[in-house]
Amino acid sequence: MNLAASLRNFRKLDWDARVAVATELGQLDSSSQQQLLAHFDERDALLIENYLTNYQLPTGLAATIRMNDQDYLVPMVTEEPSVIAAASYGGKMTSTGAGIITSMPTNLLMGQVVFQTVTQAEVSRFVDPQVDALLALANAAHPSILTHGGGAKKIRVRALGEGFVSVDLFVDTGAAMGANMMNGMLEALGHHLQDVLEQHPVMSILTNDGQGSLVTATVTVAVANLAKGNVTAGLQVAKRIVAASDIAQLDVSRATTHNKGIMNGVDAAVVASGNDWRAVEASAHAYAAHSGQYRGLSRWSLQDERLEGVLTMPMHLGLVGGATGSLPLAKINQQISQVASVATLNQLVVAVGLAQNLAALRALVSEGIQQGHMHLQYRNLALVAGATPTQVPQVVDALGQQATADLAAAKRIVNQLNE
Ligand code: NDP
Repeated sequence: MNLAASLRNFRKLDWDARVAVATELGQLDSSSQQQLLAHFDERDALLIENYLTNYQLPTGLAATIRMNDQDYLVPMVTEEPSVIAAASYGGKMTSTGAGIITSMPTNLLMGQVVFQTVTQAEVSRFVDPQVDALLALANAAHPSILTHGGGAKKIRVRALGEGFVSVDLFVDTGAAMGANMMNGMLEALGHHLQDVLEQHPVMSILTNDGQGSLVTATVTVAVANLAKGNVTAGLQVAKRIVAASDIAQLDVSRATTHNKGIMNGVDAAVVASGNDWRAVEASAHAYAAHSGQYRGLSRWSLQDERLEGVLTMPMHLGLVGGATGSLPLAKINQQISQVASVATLNQLVVAVGLAQNLAALRALVSEGIQQGHMHLQYRNLALVAGATPTQVPQVVDALGQQATADLAAAKRIVNQLNE
């Protein structure tokens, strides 16, 4: 094979030729090639460029998350061993009464048409008297959004500094995340504004900042629920959770990991729903910094013998569109979680984030994160060390007896079992 020529024309190669290049470069043996083939999917090969195979991640169920007086089984896709166990435990601690209460005042996606070397006054002079006509023009670029119950709702003009001015468009994207429809609407708006302002926009693109789709989830937990019914011990744990929450408001280093813990649950639920998790990640971290300092997204406080938690973050997902329609498992996951509307899906994912956060903080300030975490991590160590599925429980037990439970120890145990 002429490897250099194949690499130059890589996107024109058929699947067999692509595998041949990867095999030669990666020095893959026949068993690796068989695995690539085993995970090949004809439909998914059409989804992306230069398709090789399907990369699989485990899907599990958080059982259960009670939100607004209803219990949900939440599909989660994750490779991290403790995530679903923690979400489920968080769900259990927050399941008294109506459970986690959520609200979402608006669900609007924002996009921007940005101009350079104009003033805000110049752009406003044209935009302000024409708002209705400009909204109609945006809708005309994707008229079916009106039949889906959505449409362009609001326009504003904003000076960004250094001569840049943004015309912000807010759209109700119905049951879709709406990135593609929004970009089409913005381009139509941009072309029109270009004619009247006599300059080409620098760009016409949605923003993932999520300021039009904030979800708030709140919960009240009796402190006894934090320590197996023991009020005194529970109160101690609750006070430490409040301290952990305060630290995440003060210190960026801690806030980063506080939010990573929330995103453990959020991302796993978002991936399972077939949605764009990069968009969700970008909006979450932008919102975490909206005060000017990056802070923890959730806050916990103590009222008498009740721990109160609140998590506000952007969530703008789709029940239709994007990969939600093309990945068969995304549809099955939607069926399992029984979310009837995109508003419910957005709120359920944030409720999972709050439950996940509570479980992580409780473990962190009481027995420590490693106790529960490492036990689950041992399964991963066992698999990496080459244990068969039937050997895994024995290896996990044996690792629990070791002074140092690392990969070398796992390999030693697997070797002993295989002798
Ligand atoms: P699609 O382009 O698949 O569009 C969704 C389509 O679903 C709509 O255009 C509409 O088509 C149809 N639809 C059917 N029922 C409804 C309903 N009830 N409400 C609304 N629409 C409905 O996906 P999106 O526009 O949602 O874009 C999401 C994709 O864009 C994701 O894959 C994402 O990764 C990607 N993306 C993300 C970006 C970002 O986040 N920065 C940037 C660019 C792309 P019709 O009008 O014909 O009925």
